[in-house]
Amino acid sequence: MTVADSLARLQDRIDKTAIEAGRDPGAVALVAVSKKQPLERVEAALHAGHRRFGENRVQEAEARWTGLRPAYPDLILHLIGPLQTNKVKPAVALFDVIESIDRPKLARALAREMAATDKRPRCLIQVNTGEEPQKAGVVPADLDTLLMLCRDELDLPIEGLMCIPPIDEAPAPHFALLADLADRHGLKTLSMGMSGDFETAIRHGATQVRVGSAVFGERPTDGQ
Ligand SMILES: *Cc1c(COP(=O)(O)O)cnc(C)c1O
Repeated sequence: MTVADSLARLQDRIDKTAIEAGRDPGAVALVAVSKKQPLERVEAALHAGHRRFGENRVQEAEARWTGLRPAYPDLILHLIGPLQTNKVKPAVALFDVIESIDRPKLARALAREMAATDKRPRCLIQVNTGEEPQKAGVVPADLDTLLMLCRDELDLPIEGLMCIPPIDEAPAPHFALLADLADRHGLKTLSMGMSGDFETAIRHGATQVRVGSAVFGERPTDGQ
C-alpha cells in the first residue's frame, strides 16, 4: 500500500470512529509521525497533501525539515519527544507545537526563548499517566503546580495535555484520566493515541492522534 493510500484509509477510520462516538471528525487532527522514516515516504505524504507531522528528536527534525519547509509554508510540525533545555532554541525556531513540557526548568527555558524571539509555538504538557519512572511527563499529582507555573507565571500558550500510556497496559484508563485532567483545567487539546490505539483514544476525546507506522509502514530498525 502506498503512503497516500494509508493516509486515506487512516483518515477514513478516524472519521468513522469520531462519528460513531458522536464527535465531529473535523475535531480530530492526524499528526503523521515521520521520525526515522525514509525521506521518500515523507515526500509521498507531502505530495498527497498531508501537512501535519510529528518528530521526536530536535536534531533529526531540523535536518529533515529545514530544507522542506520553504516549499510547504502551511506545514505544521509537532515535537512529540522529550526536550532537553539545551535544545530549546532550535525547538522554538522549528516547531509549531511542543507537546512534551514536563518540568519547571524546561517551562522557564521555553518562556525565556519565546520572549527573546517572539515566536510562540503552541504548548502541551506531557503527563506520565502510568507514573513510570523511566518515562517523561509530569505525574498527575504534580500537574496542577506545573500548570499554574506555565499559565500564570510564565504566560506560556498551554493548550492541552499529551500522554503515552504504558506499553503493557490497556490504554483506555490512561486516555480517560488524561481527558479528565484536561477537563478539570479547561484545556481543549488532547494528544493521545498511536497506530495501535488511536480509535480508543478518539472515543475518549482525543483531538490529535499521533500515528507513525500505520501511515508510513514500519520504521527501519536501528537498534532503538
Ligand atoms: C513514535 C511515536 C508515535 C507513533 O508511534 P506508532 O506506533 O508508529 O504510531 C506516537 N507518539 C510518540 C510520542 C512517539 O514517539
